[in-house]
Amino acid sequence: MQQLIFIIVTVLSFGFFGYTVFRILSYFKLTKEHAYPTLDNIGERITHTLLVAFGQSKILKKPVAGLLHALVYWGFLVITVGTLEMIIDGLFGTQRILSRLGGIYDVVTISGEVFAALIIISCVIFLIRRYIVKPKRFTAPEMKPSSRMDATVILSMILLLMFSLLGMNIGYLNNGGEIHGSFPISNMFASSIAGMNLHTFEIVNWWIHISLVFIFLNVLPYSKHFHVILAVPNVFLERLGPKGRLNSMESVTKEVKLMMNPDTAFAPPPEGEQAEIPRFGVKDIEDVSWKTLMDSYTCTECGRCTDVCPANITGKLLSPRKLYIDARQRMKDKGDALIKDSSYSDGKFLVGDYITEEELWACTTCGACMEECPVDINHVPFIIDMRRSLVMEESKAPASINMMMTNIENNGAPWQFSASDRMNWADELFTNDE
Ligand code: SF4
Ligand code: SF4
Repeated sequence: MQQLIFIIVTVLSFGFFGYTVFRILSYFKLTKEHAYPTLDNIGERITHTLLVAFGQSKILKKPVAGLLHALVYWGFLVITVGTLEMIIDGLFGTQRILSRLGGIYDVVTISGEVFAALIIISCVIFLIRRYIVKPKRFTAPEMKPSSRMDATVILSMILLLMFSLLGMNIGYLNNGGEIHGSFPISNMFASSIAGMNLHTFEIVNWWIHISLVFIFLNVLPYSKHFHVILAVPNVFLERLGPKGRLNSMESVTKEVKLMMNPDTAFAPPPEGEQAEIPRFGVKDIEDVSWKTLMDSYTCTECGRCTDVCPANITGKLLSPRKLYIDARQRMKDKGDALIKDSSYSDGKFLVGDYITEEELWACTTCGACMEECPVDINHVPFIIDMRRSLVMEESKAPASINMMMTNIENNGAPWQFSASDRMNWADELFTNDE
């Protein structure tokens, strides 16, 4: 009976998770091609992923908070092995199926127990930090109550997961049956109540733990903790090479090439291209590339980018973290309607209604945000693409930039001097020589 219930629960959980993932993937069909290669230099990508995603190298730049976060992540990886064992046991009616691995099973169970204890300590510290220490990046204006609630719910769930895991192991040690594996933490508690039969306690904790795993799996895609799943692929698909390099716009390059070719400069556009008027840059969510949308779903809202942003530090409106919270929100608000009707409009735009011009022009393009981001999000190209929309679609740029562009157009240089006056500065030298 238990096995049948478990099969039904498992099918429902994975079914609902599959439905959610399918829905999110359908949003990606609305996006554009990414301007940078994402699958070149596979060797370098694997090394980078091992270092940044699995090794947590960027997170560890903050030694204390970084180490605690890394412990939770590594623990999650180790404990997943135990979760897989529980699912196999539940589906096939086996008992501790991985114990057939012999000595390796001891390593799995010992590391699982040690990490469970470390995760409990880390989560308690995270909750204290969030509610008592309250660092600035957790209380910034873009952190809405729902974001804070999201973090609290997930931390509480992780704590319950770890307590039920240890509870299950304590019950297992005192259930009167044969013991496989080693359980150093649970053993401390189990030995103090030796003689009590805790078989029911073990089963209750087993069900609590696996139910929480399934709930956790289904909550993830709806929360900022989706990064647990997306961080590794997002880091792997990261843009390699110099971070400051920007792409030239394919549509503009094509236009320029056509204009420079005497055969095509005055020719009518080819059949089919006449009606197509491309939108330059990113004005709304359907203009972003699939990688930018993936970045927005991977953002952990940790605020490390905002913490180092010189614009934000000096009191400007810009918070790089907010750009990705806004992008994700915009897709949630518009995505479903856009899938049904590709011409749908609610009269709002990502740039203007969610992200303001003031925020975008505050960026110095220094790249500090990209350097710090633990999941390798590429802020600057996204910001530049939104600026491109403002400049090329709406002729909106700060007065200083407009003046510079006018000067380039008229004088061939950013300064307000005619090209014929360019050598005036040397006049005095020639006069002195004479
Ligand atoms: S590139 Fe822009 S958003 Fe990023 S840290 Fe520098 S100023 Fe801030
Ligand atoms: S963009 Fe990166 S650094 Fe910024 S909040 Fe998101 S995950 Fe953190």
